Amino acid sequence: MKSGELAGKHAFETLQDNITNDFETKINESWIFDELYASRNFGPIFHKFGALFGAAVNVIDQFIFRGKMPFTMNHPTPDYACLKKADDMPKIDYPKPDGIYSFDKLSSVYLSNTNHEEDQPCHLVLKDPTIPISVNLPMYDEPAQRYCPAGVYEVVEKDNEKKFVINAQNCVHCKTCDIKDPSQNINWVTPEGPGGPNYPNM
Ligand code: SF4
Repeated sequence: MKSGELAGKHAFETLQDNITNDFETKINESWIFDELYASRNFGPIFHKFGALFGAAVNVIDQFIFRGKMPFTMNHPTPDYACLKKADDMPKIDYPKPDGIYSFDKLSSVYLSNTNHEEDQPCHLVLKDPTIPISVNLPMYDEPAQRYCPAGVYEVVEKDNEKKFVINAQNCVHCKTCDIKDPSQNINWVTPEGPGGPNYPNM
């Protein structure tokens, strides 16, 4: 939210032709930079040392050094390249949502009030539209069907032919698909207008 506020301020200054600082400097001088800098090693430490030893190292980093250890760790492998082939993994039979403690995706999408004008260009752009069915489906059982929290991506079968469907109007703008797609084939671009999730009570 703070970066969005700073982006709005920067856009306003640009329109007024009165730019005080470039956008990156605005971010670096705001409190979000301090928070993000202090937690920069948190995920990579788990990635490198595993859950148990990683937790111990994170306690040292966060509580003793307060996120100021004199080095920065990086993830050795990009997230999308960590996905294992579907054939090498067990099939998980997820229990149906009970409507009390667990809910189906579309009920949660409804609560997000997300909305996009239906006649706008799709903001989830495939670099190669054939990849989901020709590569991702046989190798990874097309993971977009599962990692997208809004059920935007579906593989449907019609006349014995599988098709990749994108329900872009449900997108809640988490950008997971842009990061996680194993073929790096999905490009999340900014949708038109003010569309997207809207949480009025936050
Ligand atoms: S940005 Fe998030 S909600 Fe939107 S399509 Fe991608 S994974 Fe789904």
